[in-house]
Amino acid sequence: MKYGMTTELEEFRTEVRDFVTRHAPDIAPKAGVRSAENAAELALLKEWTRALFAAGYVGGSWPREFGGNGDSHRLEQDIIVGEEISRRRAPAPIQGAGNLVAHAIIDHGTDEQKNKYLKGIRTGEVMFCQLFSEPGAGSDLASLRTRATRDDGGFRITGQKVWTTNGQWADYGYLLARTDPDVPKHKGISAFLIDMRSPGVDVRPLREMTGTADFNEVFLDDVAVGADALIGQAGAGWMIANSSLAHERSGVANNAVRLRRNVAALIELAGTVHRHGRPAIEDAVVVDRIGELSASVEALSALVYAGLTRVSRNDSRVIDAPMSKLMFSELGVEIASFALELCAESGVVVAGDGCVDHGRWQDEFLYARAYTIAGGSSEIMRNIIAERGLGLPR
Ligand SMILES: Cc1cc2nc3c(=O)[nH]c(=O)nc-3n(C[C@H](O)[C@H](O)[C@H](O)COP(=O)(O)OP(=O)(O)OC[C@H]3O[C@@H](n4cnc5c(N)ncnc54)[C@H](O)[C@@H]3O)c2cc1C
Repeated sequence: MKYGMTTELEEFRTEVRDFVTRHAPDIAPKAGVRSAENAAELALLKEWTRALFAAGYVGGSWPREFGGNGDSHRLEQDIIVGEEISRRRAPAPIQGAGNLVAHAIIDHGTDEQKNKYLKGIRTGEVMFCQLFSEPGAGSDLASLRTRATRDDGGFRITGQKVWTTNGQWADYGYLLARTDPDVPKHKGISAFLIDMRSPGVDVRPLREMTGTADFNEVFLDDVAVGADALIGQAGAGWMIANSSLAHERSGVANNAVRLRRNVAALIELAGTVHRHGRPAIEDAVVVDRIGELSASVEALSALVYAGLTRVSRNDSRVIDAPMSKLMFSELGVEIASFALELCAESGVVVAGDGCVDHGRWQDEFLYARAYTIAGGSSEIMRNIIAERGLGLPR
């Protein structure tokens, strides 16, 4: 049993697996983290999110007074839930930003903010998006230029955000904006909760090469918000954003499961497509490559669990998460690219006769690059490993 998986936790896994089988929404599986394609899908995803919160499988780390399991919650449980959702190819709950903002509100919000937002996040009724990145501020997020200026007891916000996942469906945004341009850049940022239906908010979905619109551009034109939109103190936005991101530690484990599942699908694919007139699986080059990819996925899994064990012992290293993130995202591209190579000409057929696995590999291939950018690009991960892990010069 890995990473402290006791018999009790394995029983929990069986229970979660059964729950996922019974309750996962009937939405065709897609690669990665995707938004709803229409209102009907949105309703299914919201109901799925509500069910996961109600069962205590999501939001377990919240304090008991807000519906979580408080001190009895264990990180291993989050890992198991993520792994079982991935194993079933079920969609993630539609509350990525909701869970993130919830921690910011729980740790730094006022009682009014807690009462106003937390219950709705748990019931799936209130949906948040994350308004951090801008056209000129992604890797270097602290350079963000969206301005929030004091006005009439509240603030007026002007600027542009981009890459806003679920922005087209969200009720509220968890926003970072500059409130003081005259102090060092990390210190002049504040965190806000804004109503996405406020006058001056313009959300424009971006259709990606996968064919779906998962993120958006968001334009903010003199948007008026009250003083109660501010989370914590003015100028504390950088600290608040980083502390809420630190709660998201379990995601990489389900990514390893996702890749293991993809290697299994690759083996099946190699049994059905032909290469040089014979089933590809009979070609030694193909077998070698699949073996190599499979070994790398197992190495990733070991790396992830070693990192999580260090988290539980409170001695995690700064390079643990970047190494897993880099390996996971780059391996995802390699596996999907090899699958398309095996598909040969049929790899360009995305629907109808001749389409392999209902276009699964094209979708994996086109989406895989998103993971090499989202949550810190591969280059930034390499910089952290080199500079902070190996002590190399900047
Ligand atoms: C699928 C997806 C969903 C996302 N969802 C959200 C969301 O909901 N909300 C949100 O706020 N953001 C979201 N993001 C944005 C994400 O956080 C940024 O894309 C990411 O931080 C990179 O920033 P950027 O796109 O501005 O690229 P840039 O920072 O402009 O980087 C461009 C290129 O330069 C390289 N580069 C940059 N700096 C360095 C350096 N110092 N050394 C070496 N190379 C460097 C990068 O690796 C990259 O190749 C999402 C992104 C993706 C892909």
